[in-house]
Amino acid sequence: MGYRVGIDLGGTNIAVGVVDSAYRIIAHHSVPTGAEREASAVIDDIAAAVDAALRKVGLTTADCACAGIGSPGTCDSERGVVVRAYNLNWFDVPVCAILSEKLGIPVRLSNDANCAALGETVAGAARGCRNVVMITLGTGVGGGIIIGGSIYAGMHSAGAELGHILLKMDGELCTCGRRGCWEAYASATALCRQATAAAQEDPKSLLYGVPEMTGKRVFDAAEQGDETARRVVERYCEYVAAGLTDLVNALAPDMILLGGGISRQGERLLEPIRRYVAAHCFGGAQGAVPRIAAAELGNEAGIIGAAAL
Ligand SMILES: [Zn+2]
Repeated sequence: MGYRVGIDLGGTNIAVGVVDSAYRIIAHHSVPTGAEREASAVIDDIAAAVDAALRKVGLTTADCACAGIGSPGTCDSERGVVVRAYNLNWFDVPVCAILSEKLGIPVRLSNDANCAALGETVAGAARGCRNVVMITLGTGVGGGIIIGGSIYAGMHSAGAELGHILLKMDGELCTCGRRGCWEAYASATALCRQATAAAQEDPKSLLYGVPEMTGKRVFDAAEQGDETARRVVERYCEYVAAGLTDLVNALAPDMILLGGGISRQGERLLEPIRRYVAAHCFGGAQGAVPRIAAAELGNEAGIIGAAAL
């Protein structure tokens, strides 16, 4: 009974892990989501993937205490319902009730950003911390808040949408429809937009006319001494750090973790951010400046976090 199942439900793949009592993944099975199908067909495949993962280590659901699912979109953890997940085309899907019936064990649900934050807290870079904020810098800016070792998600689990705190009144248009959200400045998408715009003004830049801009490309050009890229990276790090400073002022977490593609830039990203937060957070360097580090578990964080629900 010491085992748990963690399910990372994505728009492209369903990744299932069998997790032991020390939060190690001892078996893994992954299948395509096929999100164009009915939710019931996808849930059938989740159940089959759970059985397949368990079979690899000679276990059945009878050996497991529970399962957890991390899903994209808005998830009501109390009711176990995926309220809205556009990339799955799921609306009000009671996934916990259906899957629990199929597997014969209790099933819990939270959104994928919350699961990643919980996974890193129980088994990753924030091990041993009680209060953690994790920010994912990807297509958008995702957030997860851990308070006292548990996910804080607010009423109907609708909170911790940290990408949509305000960075600039009447600023850039955000995907949510509001102007000036942090995400519109601090996502990988925003970095690429900023780099493309700046390079257009500088034909000598390594980034001039680059057809497929990526965050890595911008950071690499900055490191190679490209002045335009260096200015874009410096400003981008300030955008990220300014939002983090507000979260430090609001929550004073023990630790802040950065995940997502951009976090692979490591110290090139982290060092300027640490400097900015220490200089600008309330009370300055004497204030409650948390440790700021990159997440460690990558895609496994979502599985481990789901298992820890
Ligand atoms: Zn927004």
